[in-house]
Amino acid sequence: MSKGVNLLSNVDLVVLGGGSGGYAAALRSAQLGLSVVLIEADKVGGTCLHRGCIPTKALLHAGEVADTARESSHFGVNTTLNSIDMNGVNSYKDGVITKLYKGLQGLVKSRGITFVEGYGKLVSRDTVEVNGTRYTGKNVILATGSYAKTLPGLEIDGKRVITSDHGTKLDYIPKSVIVLGGGVIGCEFASVWKSFGSDVTIIEGLPHLIALEDESSSKLLERAYRKRGINFELGVRFKSHTVTADGVTVELEDGRTFSAELLLVSVGRGPVSANLGYEEQGITMDRGYVIVDDKCRTNVPGIWAVGDLIPTLQLAHVGFQEGILVAEEIAGLNPRPINYDGVPRVTYSEPEVASVGLTTAQAKERGHNVVELNYDLAGNGKAQILGTSGSIKLVAEKDGPVLGIHMVGSRVGELLAEAQLIFNWEATAADVAPLIHAHPTMSEAMGEAHMALAGKPLHAHG
Ligand SMILES: Cc1cc2nc3c(=O)[nH]c(=O)nc-3n(C[C@H](O)[C@H](O)[C@H](O)COP(=O)(O)OP(=O)(O)OC[C@H]3O[C@@H](n4cnc5c(N)ncnc54)[C@H](O)[C@@H]3O)c2cc1C
Repeated sequence: MSKGVNLLSNVDLVVLGGGSGGYAAALRSAQLGLSVVLIEADKVGGTCLHRGCIPTKALLHAGEVADTARESSHFGVNTTLNSIDMNGVNSYKDGVITKLYKGLQGLVKSRGITFVEGYGKLVSRDTVEVNGTRYTGKNVILATGSYAKTLPGLEIDGKRVITSDHGTKLDYIPKSVIVLGGGVIGCEFASVWKSFGSDVTIIEGLPHLIALEDESSSKLLERAYRKRGINFELGVRFKSHTVTADGVTVELEDGRTFSAELLLVSVGRGPVSANLGYEEQGITMDRGYVIVDDKCRTNVPGIWAVGDLIPTLQLAHVGFQEGILVAEEIAGLNPRPINYDGVPRVTYSEPEVASVGLTTAQAKERGHNVVELNYDLAGNGKAQILGTSGSIKLVAEKDGPVLGIHMVGSRVGELLAEAQLIFNWEATAADVAPLIHAHPTMSEAMGEAHMALAGKPLHAHG
């Protein structure tokens, strides 16, 4: 740690924020021989490692274990789910985080990056100040990330009304929860709590859960949630809430009320950019987001921005790639800009929802001559073995490349490895159909879908 050092000037790069975007930029830059200062107010790893991707996926895995125990008699194995010990769940989850955190700290150190612990502010076009010490670089990367938003009048008290920051650290299982917002984060928490035995109701203002996904995926998730007993109200808006001694009551604009022990507010994330000196240095902003070009350059020469701070997909792997892109651009490697359509996306609920490329609606909007194919997982041996249902939907240009792949079912997130290659290499169904998929795997469904679209279905009816 270099807390309290004198002015450190003329390094190649000063990175403000050590989350996915910032630390990826720092690691790649150091690998390319650049001198780097990485400034972080809290812990390197940011939202994803400490209160986002990793803790939620650990909770979801614990939920899957609970579901397996609860439903084991279906497989002829008799177990009893006695209880869920949240201290045990949390120590498993925290163990995962701690191990990854130590690994990341080790990486930062071993790459020779100067790590500065403290709250930084951009004080000139090439300088960030932390606790009175100034760090000057030929380049500055802004990577201050995002925070959980709320609605006007909906105060987060951290007890009855919480965000995902609190949700990943709860030391008890709520008897009942209202999840306000049925996007990815809301649906993941709903899935965890249902697996842990809570009574869950999602309230979503849009007509569907995970509304950014292909409508067919939203409908399949809704069907699966209905089957799991996860309640949801769609197309209805929040009006007000009252905190009572034993819970929260939410009133909707249509006059209905819902009560629960806990209210999770998951209505989206906003950029962390206020009072950090960005506007003062003339950086172009829009609703708090820093605006960049396709190489993540701001309008101010030498200042770059990556991750949730810019209006691209708020995903850790997008932050990683933007960080790498900037590092390589600064090092003169002239990397290709990111094709954001080709970013893999997963909602890690039970069932999982995974996609890459365009939805049917987007493909039509962009003027493609669209053909679709739906492969029902009912025809897939491994899906039957696991007891999951869902589908793989292909959106393709007629006689052309695959434009989008949309999947629902247990473990389909793992199929994105292949799906994103198919999309990003602009493969046609005929290119994929002859590729052999091991039997019985879920990945076979990917092969079968492309065989069917290429006009030679094997295990498909109709
Ligand atoms: C509940 C939840 C689940 C998620 N699950 C997934 C998932 O499964 N997969 C996925 O891809 N994405 C997931 N995400 C999104 C992912 O966490 C973010 O996209 C990613 O963390 C963004 O990285 P970032 O570097 O832009 O910002 P952050 O990770 O937010 O990092 C920004 C860092 O900057 C620091 N900082 C801010 N201001 C200052 C300052 N002035 N001085 C010094 N330091 C500062 C902060 O302390 C923070 O560490 C999830 C998010 C949440 C909330």
